[in-house]
Amino acid sequence: LAMYAAKRAGAHSWMRHDPSMVDRRAMDALLAEDLTGAAGRGELIVLYQPIVDLDTGGPTGYEALVRWQHPARGLVPPLDFIPVAERTGLIYDIGLHVLSQACTDMAAAPGKPYVSVNLSPRQLQTPTLVHDVLAAVKRAGMPLERLVLEVTESAIVDEKSIVTLHELRGYGIRIAVDDFGTGYSSLHYLTRLPVDILKIDRSFVAQLDGTATGSAIADAIIRLAQVLRLRTIAEGIETEDQARELLTLGCRTGQGFLYAKPSPLEAVLSEAGRRLDEARQRQ
Ligand code: C2E
Ligand code: MG
Ligand code: MG
Ligand code: MG
Repeated sequence: LAMYAAKRAGAHSWMRHDPSMVDRRAMDALLAEDLTGAAGRGELIVLYQPIVDLDTGGPTGYEALVRWQHPARGLVPPLDFIPVAERTGLIYDIGLHVLSQACTDMAAAPGKPYVSVNLSPRQLQTPTLVHDVLAAVKRAGMPLERLVLEVTESAIVDEKSIVTLHELRGYGIRIAVDDFGTGYSSLHYLTRLPVDILKIDRSFVAQLDGTATGSAIADAIIRLAQVLRLRTIAEGIETEDQARELLTLGCRTGQGFLYAKPSPLEAVLSEAGRRLDEARQRQ
């Protein structure tokens, strides 16, 4: 058994470095086999990255970001297993697990922060989604108004997904477009999409350098959001200069390593508690 496990772990790391060597379907199958039941075995860990008010640095909400604690491979980042989960359909249960965990974790958090959960295209296309989301949030005892679901532009190109988003919004759940500007949706399309928030992709935040050219895309997205009465959240803020420039451009909310990396629940809650205490003492 140990040899089998070692071989398997070895196969994984080998394939990861040279995926062209093997059939992708075989690789998917191997990973999917390990991934099946990972949630039940407690191997899926949900980390939280604060989404802060750029003016004060105080948290307004948290994005839930999953990690897979694999017994042999160690901590696997989402980009190494979410695509496989998506192709094999495992994403539906994994996504619901993350949602349940995030809502349960945040239900009693001080300051009533919102929690933002990523939703994959496959989840959005599954007919039971609305029912299952409502049930999970209800079980967690968190108001639906505190849930944000993040979808990418590519996930909302079909009519059925748009109907589902309308339905979710009807229950008070907010919708954010993740990585906005990197997909292929036409701007015309955006005016009739049921969304509340545009998340400015970190590639555009990285371009901010104090010049008009550097800020062109972020500026355009922020203005577009203002006209359409949508909120903006900037992703991947790493420097004070970027935060200042975003504020000048009219974006008031963001997340990034400047404020915090995705961290375990206990860490973000104790940090939030410390900030609330400080604020009280200043009053
Ligand atoms: P995303 O939703 O766009 O999440 C933001 C990613 O940017 C996260 O990577 C986060 O750690 C990273 N990030 C945050 N601040 C900074 C920064 O200042 N600099 C840089 N360079 N990166 C920053 P992560 O956690 O590796 O997640 C990658 C992607 O995996 C996510 O991108 C999301 O698309 C997907 N993902 C994560 N968790 C889930 C999940 O539960 N369900 C689904 N369907 N997808 C998920
Ligand atoms: Mg996201
Ligand atoms: Mg994003
Ligand atoms: Mg991104």
